[in-house]
Amino acid sequence: MTSSVETTLRGPEAYSLSRRVIDEMEAAGVWPTPLNFELWLHYLGDPEGALGREIQRLLAAREPFTEATADMLAAEYLPRGRLTEEIRDAGRVLDRELSSVADAISRAHKSQAAYGQTLDKAATSIESAGDGDALKTIVGGLSTATRRIQRENETLEKRLDASTKEVARLREHLEQVRRDAMTDALTNLANRKAFDEHLAAACDQAEAGGEQMVLAVLDVDHFKRFNDTWGHQTGDQVLRYVASVIARFSPPPRIAARYGGEEFAVIFPREDAAKVHSALESIRKEIGSRSLRRRSTNDELGAVTISAGFATHRAGDTGATLLERADAALYASKRAGRNRVTAAEALDRAA
Ligand code: C2E
Repeated sequence: MTSSVETTLRGPEAYSLSRRVIDEMEAAGVWPTPLNFELWLHYLGDPEGALGREIQRLLAAREPFTEATADMLAAEYLPRGRLTEEIRDAGRVLDRELSSVADAISRAHKSQAAYGQTLDKAATSIESAGDGDALKTIVGGLSTATRRIQRENETLEKRLDASTKEVARLREHLEQVRRDAMTDALTNLANRKAFDEHLAAACDQAEAGGEQMVLAVLDVDHFKRFNDTWGHQTGDQVLRYVASVIARFSPPPRIAARYGGEEFAVIFPREDAAKVHSALESIRKEIGSRSLRRRSTNDELGAVTISAGFATHRAGDTGATLLERADAALYASKRAGRNRVTAAEALDRAA
């Protein structure tokens, strides 16, 4: 959350802003889910910010504010703030752990030095000790010092053990935060940010190793019409269904992502165009093979179809140029009547 909104939420305006958020969400017909609430807080807290302007644009265009829209906005505008906050928290815990371990080590150092001095002194005293009683006193002193150093070593060990556990817990938590920040909440596929990173890495790898690599983009046909007819909640379910089929056909090292509202993308590292074409045909047929039902009313929704386009990496291609060609192939599929797969290379040949 941006610091200005955070500050407002702890100041005199906190409750009136929160009430306005609820009122405005109700007026706009937006469900008061935690995510929508957070988005609206940012919008009303900073209407001229990037998120505020985007929400105003969507409202002005009378675009439906679906769970999918909220996810996209959150992926675009919120996670960095959340991530920064989580990382800052983790940094504070790490700082605390490190300074407490450093203190414990420095105490242990001092104790060891003092113990060394005790031993030195004892050695000198033993040389000059005359009788048994004097020796007994020296040995008694030594054993007390030894027990003390043992206790301190045990304390240090416990402290190090606790810190190791805390750091491991922190690492796991950060890993989860990192995964969340890279995952599309609705479909559980990689989100656009993760996809952009994977695509850049895959292009670099293809370029460096002279390996084959293919990028595909897939789009649900007539999704807007579907949403308008059956409602956004059903629209979201359709996205989940399409995503589940794409995921099933995209085991690693393939990487499937939700790239936009109803747009998906798959990276096929080290695969050639023929293999990718056949995988995309399988995905297309599988998606269209099932007649879906509306969960709330059990109405028959019919089958959904997808259009796809793909492009093979060429020397010098960046993620952006590859995506551009795959997109052109997708739009060729749409123009040719939808529910089909087109290769960018086929377009090149035709041109
Ligand atoms: P979900 O509702 O969370 O369901 C997850 C998985 O549970 C489904 O994966 C399927 O394996 C199983 N499942 C759930 N409900 C049923 C059911 O009534 N009958 C059968 N045979 N299996 C069921 P799947 O099929 O990959 O679907 C993934 C997601 O796609 C579902 O998540 C849901 O959000 C959406 N979806 C799939 N089919 C339909 C449908 O006919 N209508 C609606 N509204 N959504 C669907």
